Amino acid sequence: MTLLVVSDLHLDAARPEIAEQFDAFLAGRARAARALYVLGDLFEVWIGDDDPDPHKRAIVASLKALSDAGVKLYFMRGNRDFLLGERFCRDTGGELLTDPSIATAHGKRVLLTHGDALCTDDAPYQRLRALVREPRWQTQFLALSVTQRESLAAEARAGSKAHTSGQPAMLMDVNARAIERVFREANVDWLVHGHTHRPGVTPLLVDGRPRTRLVTGDWYSQGSVLTWDADGLRLEALPRAPGAARAVQAGAPE
Ligand code: MN
Repeated sequence: MTLLVVSDLHLDAARPEIAEQFDAFLAGRARAARALYVLGDLFEVWIGDDDPDPHKRAIVASLKALSDAGVKLYFMRGNRDFLLGERFCRDTGGELLTDPSIATAHGKRVLLTHGDALCTDDAPYQRLRALVREPRWQTQFLALSVTQRESLAAEARAGSKAHTSGQPAMLMDVNARAIERVFREANVDWLVHGHTHRPGVTPLLVDGRPRTRLVTGDWYSQGSVLTWDADGLRLEALPRAPGAARAVQAGAPE
């Protein structure tokens, strides 16, 4: 039975074409899988499981339909949706995975991680990452109203854009030593992560052992899915019809 891995959909009401393609994926080929792993940044922003935003509720309903159909759903938090919680899991019928986690199937142990923890050259980001993962910070943030959280999240996104646009591209990518360390510490030959939006398959040697790093891509202009079955792990782009975005936007209410 097939396992599927996706990441970095960055679902947002402003990009309805991504939700449309993901909905078709959930109702289509994902139904034949044994499990679907979402390795973070499913949502562009997630301010808490109590957010009544209809766009987000529709995605939760599509995920629930998939788990009701018998497909196991696993979620890892990304740097955009690090507040995904227990209620989201109940609502979707899925399970939260700690980052990193090891999955075992078809004779392979595969380390799964979102990927932002591997970007160790970006020190200011790593400090922010540690702060927003503190239980006390999260409790205080989640105690605010939905409106307050929305405006703070908008400020944070503007700050993040200013930070990343002023950074050399190599600082925003994974650090080679961090990659070697996770292979070594987890004692695995396979690593799958997202976050960098640089999909690809990279063979490498760590301690003389051949290993493979697979990076799932974002869904901005096309889909990206990793298929894991008895034949191995394969990365695949999911093309989107060029007119899809315009057609949806033209038919959507303001
Ligand atoms: Mn990310």
